[in-house]
Amino acid sequence: MITIVRHNHILKHLVYINDITDGIESEIYLFADDTSIFRSGKDNESLAQNINSDLNKIALWANRWKININPTKTVAMLFSKKASPDTLFQIKLNNEVIRLSSHHKHLGLWLTDNMTWKKHIKEVASKARQRLGCLRRHIFRMSRKSLEICYLTFIRPVLEYGNVLYDATNEEDLNVLVEIEKEAMRVITGARKRCNIDALYSEFQWPCLAQRRKNQKITTLGKIVIKQFPNYLVNDLPTFYRDSRLTRKNTFATPTIKKDYYQKSFVPSSIALWNDQPLHIRSAPSYDSLKARVKRLHEKTVPPYYYIGERWVNVMHTRLRLGCSNLNYDKHKIGVSDTDRCTCGERETAYHYLLDCGIDLRKRIRMLDSVMDVLLGKGLSEAEIDEINNLDLYLKGSHRLTPAENARIFKYVHIFLDDSGRFA
Ligand SMILES: [Zn+2]
Repeated sequence: MITIVRHNHILKHLVYINDITDGIESEIYLFADDTSIFRSGKDNESLAQNINSDLNKIALWANRWKININPTKTVAMLFSKKASPDTLFQIKLNNEVIRLSSHHKHLGLWLTDNMTWKKHIKEVASKARQRLGCLRRHIFRMSRKSLEICYLTFIRPVLEYGNVLYDATNEEDLNVLVEIEKEAMRVITGARKRCNIDALYSEFQWPCLAQRRKNQKITTLGKIVIKQFPNYLVNDLPTFYRDSRLTRKNTFATPTIKKDYYQKSFVPSSIALWNDQPLHIRSAPSYDSLKARVKRLHEKTVPPYYYIGERWVNVMHTRLRLGCSNLNYDKHKIGVSDTDRCTCGERETAYHYLLDCGIDLRKRIRMLDSVMDVLLGKGLSEAEIDEINNLDLYLKGSHRLTPAENARIFKYVHIFLDDSGRFA
């Protein structure tokens, strides 16, 4: 019974939608029960007249179908690059004046009348910061893996909503989002505030947000090329050269740009990126393969053993790797310790603490011996062992070893970090 009712409802809805556009001279876009009409021109007064004439037709249509359109839930916007455009006109629906708004949230995007993305970025940043605050409260309660999954599932999609469009905005706005991602990386790894940013990025192997925007522009444009979007989007694009000589194969004709600011908008900027891609990207047979090929170009995997161990010891180890630990050398570097010395008098670097210090010698030797067992068990020659048995092995592992062998080494380091009591 419910199915039939729903079916009828959908059918009715389709009938409504099919003829709402009849006789409307403005551009009209429908999405579910959200309808927008657009018109562009130089004279605001005649723009308003034409829009009002179309709104009259829509009101008559609604009346015929007994649909109630609520003027108080309808807004009008005048998009203009002018500092103070003329707004002395009135837009009316059912004889009621519609509020002229400076901004409006449409399909999750904050549109503003001056055509900037400042408001949208401010809104997504605020939502993402709020969610990151919740995550921060669990910094020592959740594992690195769980925190990372939470960020990738609940926060990054918020930050990136509409990114192929807002990519056109200025660096200053975009940096607000970069700062949020950096903070998320610190929460996930437990890194300190003043940790080196390049080190932090290499800890994740993620492309930065700017690169991700480029990748998403390429895949979004690809989606249009592979015809997963409606025709009205495909038809507006410049010529696509499917079969031509190799260098130009599957590229777009460069669109003609009249205004500088238009250059950064989605179509021209994405086409420039697309045309620069290697042929195997431009020739991807499906959207999924295109996404996979673009991803392969830019993303590497994080060593699985970076995730092992109890949260606390995992954080201490990660801080050593990132050079933002509680060791005096690291603290002195950022000005929070007067000395960079260990109590033994040497400089307290990660190398000194893990491999060289005379204090707690027994515990250290136990770790070094266990690590040596892994290397000998691998059947490496003395020269090969010498080559890889350095600080990097203890902090980052070695590509010469399997993930399981690296995980064993990390475990021995974790036991030492715990036993030494240096970070308690
Ligand atoms: Zn020492």
